[in-house]
Amino acid sequence: MTGMKWTDPHELRPGNVLERECLDCGMLHQLPVPSIVDRKQHVACEKCDASLMEQGDGSTLTVDIAHQRETVNEALDKLDQALEQAWSGNTSRLRLIVGGGAIRDAVLGELYFRRSRGVVLDYTDGAGARRGALMIRIR
Ligand SMILES: [Zn+2]
Repeated sequence: MTGMKWTDPHELRPGNVLERECLDCGMLHQLPVPSIVDRKQHVACEKCDASLMEQGDGSTLTVDIAHQRETVNEALDKLDQALEQAWSGNTSRLRLIVGGGAIRDAVLGELYFRRSRGVVLDYTDGAGARRGALMIRIR
């Protein structure tokens, strides 16, 4: 698990600037905090023209959104935060721990919608023994 670099959620406020390295050529960029909702806005590397936000490092970010007595709405807020955190770095996948109850059902509904809008690329519904964990493809 090398190359993992998560952004502190406190740095993800809109208006902040994040440093982003092009994984193809190494050039550093200062970019405004991105949002996964705007992922279709192409951001090109100034040096090699690679699509900066689409570069994945193969890593997986794991976030538990269901085991601190969250309500469904709180869990959906945490889903949003986890998606933004994943998008702000280069993580390729988000592994979401959702448990087996109402939160899981709500998150699956939300992901279905997000996939239809192109916000997430795909996800597995964690069927069978792994039903409490959903794997979301970010990049
Ligand atoms: Zn580049």
